[in-house]
Amino acid sequence: MYLITNGKLITRDDSAQGYFEHGAVAFEGRLITEVGEEAALRAKYPDAQIIDAKGGVIMPAFINAHTHIYSALARGLSIVGNNPTNFFEVLDGTWWAIDRHLTLEGTRASANALYMDCIKQGVTTIFDHHASYAEIPGSLFEIAESSRKFGLRSCLCYEVSDRDGEEKCLQAIQENADFISYCEKEKDPMLAAMFGGHALFTISDQTFERMVAAIFPPDDPVCQKLDGEYVNSDSADHSSR
Ligand SMILES: [Zn+2]
Repeated sequence: MYLITNGKLITRDDSAQGYFEHGAVAFEGRLITEVGEEAALRAKYPDAQIIDAKGGVIMPAFINAHTHIYSALARGLSIVGNNPTNFFEVLDGTWWAIDRHLTLEGTRASANALYMDCIKQGVTTIFDHHASYAEIPGSLFEIAESSRKFGLRSCLCYEVSDRDGEEKCLQAIQENADFISYCEKEKDPMLAAMFGGHALFTISDQTFERMVAAIFPPDDPVCQKLDGEYVNSDSADHSSR
């Protein structure tokens, strides 16, 4: 049993007390067992090991709902000759130029840097939309490995796009499908998958069809095609994808 003490506690519990000026959190393993006034919890758990918050704020961690691991090492980067004047030039000259050089090793280094930054900033869950067109297969698995190493929760996907040709596009679709299958099989509460796609102007109709087919095979009995749109007859299953 541990007690985090000596902090201003924000519980975000709107059905109970949301704030304690002198709060404490009791936890055992991965489970928070009680929150409340420090004096009361100290009396109740006299043998608990104390973690001193040193007068800081104790609160649930942040969730980063939109991030890009491929850019983690690009902070402050200035690319010689890249002076974009519009959105397309920003993409082509900066972000695509970076992700076209990201190998698996680069992806791993970027993920490690991002997860360390997350921990420093109090973020314990991320939703990441990844691209590394130098080396696509296995990239989401590299990120997942890094996520596990640092103990964060991650929901990951790969950015499908036609921008680097058909072969790369198909690899990107496959990477999403492989990682979705992996997460469904592993059932690791710290890992989840989405299906990622880039902005509409880099995805053709054919690519969209292939993205849908990758997760809803035409022979899948739970899939129906209605009015040109794919839907899944099991809505709970559909929402999980
Ligand atoms: Zn974004």
